[in-house]
Amino acid sequence: MIPSQLPGRPHFDMVGGELCVEGLPLATLARQFGTPLFVYSKAAMLESLAAYRRGFAGRNASICYAMKANSSLGVLQVFARAGCGFDIVSGGELERALAAGAAPGDIIFSGVGKTRAEMARALQVGIGCFNVESEAELEVLSEVATAAGKSAQVSIRVNPNVDPKTHPYISTGLKGNKFGVAHERALHAYQRAAALPGLKVVGIDCHIGSQITTQAPYLDAMDRILDLVESVEAAGIPLPHIDFGGGLGIDYNGDEPPKADALWSALFAKIDSRGFGDRKFMIEPGRSLVGNAGVCVTEVLYLKPGEQKNFCIVDAAMNDLPRPAMYQAFHAIVPLRQGNGPSSVYDVVGPVCESGDWIGHGRALAVDQGDLLAVMSAGAYCMSMASNYNTRGRAAEVLVDAGKAHLIRERESPADQMRSERLLP
Ligand SMILES: *Cc1c(COP(=O)(O)O)cnc(C)c1O
Repeated sequence: MIPSQLPGRPHFDMVGGELCVEGLPLATLARQFGTPLFVYSKAAMLESLAAYRRGFAGRNASICYAMKANSSLGVLQVFARAGCGFDIVSGGELERALAAGAAPGDIIFSGVGKTRAEMARALQVGIGCFNVESEAELEVLSEVATAAGKSAQVSIRVNPNVDPKTHPYISTGLKGNKFGVAHERALHAYQRAAALPGLKVVGIDCHIGSQITTQAPYLDAMDRILDLVESVEAAGIPLPHIDFGGGLGIDYNGDEPPKADALWSALFAKIDSRGFGDRKFMIEPGRSLVGNAGVCVTEVLYLKPGEQKNFCIVDAAMNDLPRPAMYQAFHAIVPLRQGNGPSSVYDVVGPVCESGDWIGHGRALAVDQGDLLAVMSAGAYCMSMASNYNTRGRAAEVLVDAGKAHLIRERESPADQMRSERLLP
């Protein structure tokens, strides 16, 4: 049987009319572990990583997985063992990265609201770099580092004011976004950083947004950053590394983002032509490493035909798959078994008591009650954003490695959910 690969989803194939991951039928995993169930392919993750590594071949570069995309320990282990660093945005993520075996020196800490306690802990374990997002944060980090008798390596996140042409909630590099230091203020911020005790300037950083599907905003941002490197270095402050953030999009619905290797060959053409080819380059990809390496398997609980709409009610909901409710995002929805019955058009919705609880609008599906569906492209920003709304336990997660399934997270029980609560006397 020749497998037919789903477009843009390597390692998720239709084999004999059944959707498989690395050759394992997803229906078998659903029977074994229940639904809703997140299933990830390790091979798919490593392939996405390999595309970046091809782009960086022969360069001094480091790939720091932006773990907020999917921070499950088993997923982090895959990247730690593959030699990645990590981009973290909280003290909680720091502890997760360490628990998964990350080398502290390969961790970089981003985010606009780092607390003193988070800074102190990160200094204690010896992280590689703080991506500082404001002048006020520079002052606080200097105080915390000095009090601890440490030196904090810092890079300033600069807001290059380029439009990534993505959803407004995931644009981060425009004037008016809360992120980074304005381009015009950046030189001043670097001079401040260089003068403060307890800080050592090691680089520059930017991150312009997420689910970016064209090359142009990246090339514009790179020009803006290289301009700044020139002016900061002309002021006598060397910037050994350039961290270019993450944000590369994936194929959710026929999207055609540039491939990581093609994007980086275009960027290096610019970098080399401007004479910066020998710098250390860092990147912080999240979604593009894990998004299409995962699916969420869900069971059809009820079909509910209506006058205006038909509803397909499934056992996964907005608490498991928050992206549609949050960003009107699209996930492809594929029956695990290719049916040959007639299809109807459904709104695919979950059991949560909110009209915003939908997974897909207007989908043509040939399904019956009890059938299993795969919500595709669910490896990024799904489980890491999952909640317990409606006191729904978070789903189980399985990571498939060379055709073998490993349970990396048990389904959350009501007792798990109530563990940290206390009854009144
Ligand atoms: C979220 C985030 C990333 C990763 O973004 P993706 O779109 O998932 O690649 C990288 N860097 C920072 C600072 C982030 O906040």
